[in-house]
Amino acid sequence: MTIQELIASARKIVFKFGSNTLAGNEGKINAAFLEEFAGQAAELCTGGKQIVIVSSGAQVAGLSTLDKWARKKDLHYRQALCAVGQVQLMEAWQRAFEPHSRHIAQILLTQDDFGDSIRTLNMRNTLFTLVDEGIIPIINENDTVSVEEIKIGDNDTLAAQSAILWSADLLVLFSDIDGLYTKNPKEFPDAELVEAVSNIDSIRANVSIGAVSNFGTGGIATKLTAAQRASSYGIPTILAHGGKPRCLEALAAGRQKGTVFLA
Ligand code: ADP
Repeated sequence: MTIQELIASARKIVFKFGSNTLAGNEGKINAAFLEEFAGQAAELCTGGKQIVIVSSGAQVAGLSTLDKWARKKDLHYRQALCAVGQVQLMEAWQRAFEPHSRHIAQILLTQDDFGDSIRTLNMRNTLFTLVDEGIIPIINENDTVSVEEIKIGDNDTLAAQSAILWSADLLVLFSDIDGLYTKNPKEFPDAELVEAVSNIDSIRANVSIGAVSNFGTGGIATKLTAAQRASSYGIPTILAHGGKPRCLEALAAGRQKGTVFLA
């Protein structure tokens, strides 16, 4: 199936944004980008689709609020920074959806939550209730309680887990690249875009995975794992550039390329 067909046929879609997509050049949350996406997402909802957003960006938002902490690497400072930034991040999302009369809801999760059946049930019920009421849930990892050992660690995995939890029809990972390439396009200009992947294990053996960028935590490896996880539950994944003009509309209209991981 093409990207256009996947979006057209999915009713429940999880969108994930990496920090690099949400942050502008000056290292702040890119409010204009959030507003543009919210407009397109609201239109999808009006057309009968349901959406859940997994949003990184708490640390970026925190840094632009409290830049005096920029060089503090101590874990507790980083967690504190995310606690500050999470508020800014949600405020930016709220402002973005306000003109479209859409409420948002914050959901902060940890790895432990996914391993406990009662918590999982509660999370699932909350997600279903919010979405049924037309509210847009915005999920992030709960950095305050997620010390290294129990961290989900990257929002690609969190997005895949959320898609599975909510029984989504489609997972869309927005990053700062057009999709999966044969090698890191930022280092190798001759890297080629892989438009469709049906076997993630074999593609792993055939692409080279480069370093992660500035604010990114997972890199392409976690996107492959996330796609594989979603795929094992029958959920296809699209990896696409979130920084292109009206990216969601462009994907839905078949004007923007990306990588499709078929389930
Ligand atoms: P995000 O913050 O959007 O989750 P990351 O920075 O974690 O993004 O990961 C995306 C980055 O992975 C790209 O910007 C790219 O530089 C790098 N990368 C490494 N190898 C590849 C590859 N084979 N194909 C595409 N991107 C790659």
